Amino acid sequence: MPDVHVKNVSFTYAGSSHAVLRSVNLTIPEGEFVLLAGPSGCGKSTLALALAGLIPSRIAGSFKGRISLGDKPISTMEVHEAAQHIGIVFQSPEEQLVHLDVESEVAFGPENLALSHDEIESRVRTALAYTHMEPLRKLEIFALSGGQKQRVAIAATLAMQSRVLVLDEPTSDLDPVGTQEVLNVLRTLNKRYGWTIILIEHKIDEVIPWVDRVLLMDQGKVVVDAPPHQAFAAM
Ligand code: ADP
Ligand code: ADP
Repeated sequence: MPDVHVKNVSFTYAGSSHAVLRSVNLTIPEGEFVLLAGPSGCGKSTLALALAGLIPSRIAGSFKGRISLGDKPISTMEVHEAAQHIGIVFQSPEEQLVHLDVESEVAFGPENLALSHDEIESRVRTALAYTHMEPLRKLEIFALSGGQKQRVAIAATLAMQSRVLVLDEPTSDLDPVGTQEVLNVLRTLNKRYGWTIILIEHKIDEVIPWVDRVLLMDQGKVVVDAPPHQAFAAM
């Protein structure tokens, strides 16, 4: 599975006059657990949207540069294609879960790929197993806790078989139990199954033990790119 490459990426939202990303350059090797940090408004969410291909395909603005997974250029892909390479999970489960029950939510992406019934079922089962949601697959989404909802959102990206997962403050709306459930799933995906994880998270103390690398952004640039002990010494 290839590395993520971000080359000279700049972005300005339509109607705005200042660049929110300014010549960002990064390579994220396969299997790395990356914490993306920095003050509010520095461009973390925008970079997450660009990594998932939603910028530039869905969000208007001026995009320059290139994001690719190996030699596959994410930044020129349509969203459904990008989703097979890099998945994204947002802060609020309510905004991203659109189906009535757990299994429909997780099956939705693969169904749109016109896969066989058996292949869809196999992907759904695996995705639910990795997120410890298999016993709850028949439940309706509204009946789930916040942590369970976020695990469904993660399972839905896994069912697309993307091997890179970007998460934008996935625990901000969760209680401590839900936070731990989600962070434990991320740790397992990364350490046991080799997923690349790029995580925007304010609960730094809780994730730092298993983070390989910290990217600290400021005003649209990556200003620190180092292992955790060095990165926090620089802060
Ligand atoms: P962070 O995630 O680090 O808080 P964001 O990427 O959300 O930063 O935002 C970076 C900057 O871009 C902020 O100044 C924010 O107000 C601006 N911004 C975010 N989304 C939009 C948008 N849709 N249109 C215009 N400006 C935006
Ligand atoms: P974050 O939690 O990443 O800091 P914000 O509260 O900055 O998010 O933004 C919430 C939503 O508002 C996002 O969808 C973002 O794209 C949008 N947004 C943020 N800043 C602006 C802006 N200046 N103009 C338009 N939309 C914005």
